Amino acid sequence: MFKEYQHLRIPGPTPVSPEVQRAMDRTILGHRSGAFSEIFAQTCEKAKYVFQTKEDVFILASTGTGALEAAVANVVEPNDKVLVLVTGVFGERFVKIAKAYGANVMTLKFDLGTTAKPETVKEVLQQNPDIKAVFLTHCETSTAVVNPVEKIGNIVKDTDALLIVDSVSALVGMDLKMDDWDVDIAVTASHKAIGLPPGLALVCVSQKAWKVIEKHKGPKFYFDLLAYRKKIKDRTTPYTGPVSLVYGLSKSLDLIKEEGLENGFKRHQLIRDMVRAAVKALNLELFVQEEEAASCTVTAIKGNNQLDVEQLRKILREDYKVEVAGGQQDLKGKIFRIGHLGYIHPLDILTTISALEMALKQIGYPISLGAGIKAAEEVWCNDKNIG
Ligand SMILES: *Cc1c(COP(=O)(O)O)cnc(C)c1O
Repeated sequence: MFKEYQHLRIPGPTPVSPEVQRAMDRTILGHRSGAFSEIFAQTCEKAKYVFQTKEDVFILASTGTGALEAAVANVVEPNDKVLVLVTGVFGERFVKIAKAYGANVMTLKFDLGTTAKPETVKEVLQQNPDIKAVFLTHCETSTAVVNPVEKIGNIVKDTDALLIVDSVSALVGMDLKMDDWDVDIAVTASHKAIGLPPGLALVCVSQKAWKVIEKHKGPKFYFDLLAYRKKIKDRTTPYTGPVSLVYGLSKSLDLIKEEGLENGFKRHQLIRDMVRAAVKALNLELFVQEEEAASCTVTAIKGNNQLDVEQLRKILREDYKVEVAGGQQDLKGKIFRIGHLGYIHPLDILTTISALEMALKQIGYPISLGAGIKAAEEVWCNDKNIG
């Protein structure tokens, strides 16, 4: 009976709403047809709202990593000096891609579970005026921190360097003001807070970045953004667009607009606060201590000698149909992560917390049933002003 039943609580892919699911059901149109062009052009236009930008937003048929590669491939030439701010696995991914394109990579590493420090970035940029680009992960999904994009944007804007931001697991769940915060390239992907299946990525480029891209001579082909810019004028993509995902994106952007970006951010924040309150009430330890550094889209929770996180994940999956994420690389076996981004209602997280309590009880972890639920409900009631 419940073969397909599940609660997908990983930081992407995320659940798809029935509205978006239905929108994607539409007959496949030819990717060069007038009818599809119309939908495509409207969708690109609507996407500006989520980046809070006046610039064009480009649709790529790829996952998030393809968009990260696009950002590198269009800016970095062999031996260019770039600075990567590393707060976890996704910062490391920028390092790997930049190296693959021959960059001379400087890294600034910050302790796992903490954010990039703007003062340090400022010093390094002053000492290295030849840095061509600074790469930053908005929400570092592997540790569940949110980096201070605005503050770093404020520093990078006064230099010749570009600020390139991986907002894959943040955009739509947390504020990103492309134009006001002086972000030069921002990227996101469909299967995170936008709430579509995997396979589509979005890239937004500032005027400062275009000047660099127009002069760029390094090797690139599929991700050559100048080709996308040329084709967007004709209301199309250089290669076959991900037609069904564009239908879905169009609907998803309507739903996001209808809720209002700000209200969406508040919803994500409320859910984060509910999770954090529950975790504390269950005597579990949050991986990100500092409230301000805690992402609104994913929460990481530490294991300990009474709590084997992999055993917990297995019970959650098999007995309760709740899928949560484990730790990646150095954090494997040390933390588990609850994804709470996109099409998620506060009530959904109460279900997750309930399953978590029962699974903890099952492995003999000392908790009292209902403690986490109570703490989370109080946060929600308080938010609704129910005294
Ligand atoms: C999910 C994610 C990506 C993209 O990963 P793909 O598997 O290529 O979609 C990139 N950066 C961050 C921060 C992510 O959370």
